[in-house]
Amino acid sequence: MLDICLLGTGGMMPLPYRWLTSMMARCRGSNLLIDCGEGTQVALKEKGWSPKPIDVICFTHYHADHISGLPGLLLTMGNAERMDPLTLVGPKGLERVVTALRTIAPELPFELKFKELTENREHMEFGPYVIDAYRVNHNVICYGYSISIPRTGRFDVERARAGAIPQKFWSRLQKGEEIEHEGRLLTPKMVLGPDRRGLKVTYCTDTRPVPVIAEYAAGADLFICEGMYGEKDKAAKAKEYKHMTFYEAASLARDAQPGQMWLTHYSPSLTRPEEYMDEVRSIFPRAKAARDGWTLELEFDED
Ligand SMILES: [Zn+2]
Ligand SMILES: [Zn+2]
Repeated sequence: MLDICLLGTGGMMPLPYRWLTSMMARCRGSNLLIDCGEGTQVALKEKGWSPKPIDVICFTHYHADHISGLPGLLLTMGNAERMDPLTLVGPKGLERVVTALRTIAPELPFELKFKELTENREHMEFGPYVIDAYRVNHNVICYGYSISIPRTGRFDVERARAGAIPQKFWSRLQKGEEIEHEGRLLTPKMVLGPDRRGLKVTYCTDTRPVPVIAEYAAGADLFICEGMYGEKDKAAKAKEYKHMTFYEAASLARDAQPGQMWLTHYSPSLTRPEEYMDEVRSIFPRAKAARDGWTLELEFDED
């Protein structure tokens, strides 16, 4: 229903054994990518996932380790004869930054659409995805994202009858159609019960630990969070460069209580993130030190 792949887990630079942090989601034939640093398309190729169906790319911010892979990816999508428009989402300056990068990928067979984020919180929908962007605290403007797949309520025959909805429209309304009938607008809500729990993934890098992150990670099936440093003596460095330690990330997860948390965006100097996980799990037991290419297939709850 919603497939997630954490394509890489590195921060700052790609390494021979670790690609830069980015996440791909797949749902109902439409793909969404968050961040695209140098080598992201190689990570994608390694995974065997196609870049052609990417309909939306969300950028957290414009540091090179999060966007410099874009021109190459666009060229690859063009070579795969993608024709449908591609939507790019990111902080203010998006069109200027992408236009500059486009000087080395000038001719593409598809249109680029831009959605620049200007508010502290923004809510939007693209295909199957509901996207919530929230401003975090890095040394340049940076956003975290929650990606949700909502789930409508169950068909409610009592409600349909009480609302005097003609039976011949029930199935179309249940499928999400709106119907004009004798001057009245019939909507799916008129025949459905309350919304059921959907699916949600929250992604956040690079930032200090600010409360808004826990707010958006609450109720997430998966919370992907930066953990730049595991070493205790790097706490001051994390503050200075506006990043997080593993323990700060775990504290956010403890507040939010997601289904699980994956750490990512490791400092290149951090070669064995697992070494620090006992203490991380004493703060939030469902924390994992993610590795490149980890995937999770999320399904709606059984009825
Ligand atoms: Zn970064
Ligand atoms: Zn950064």
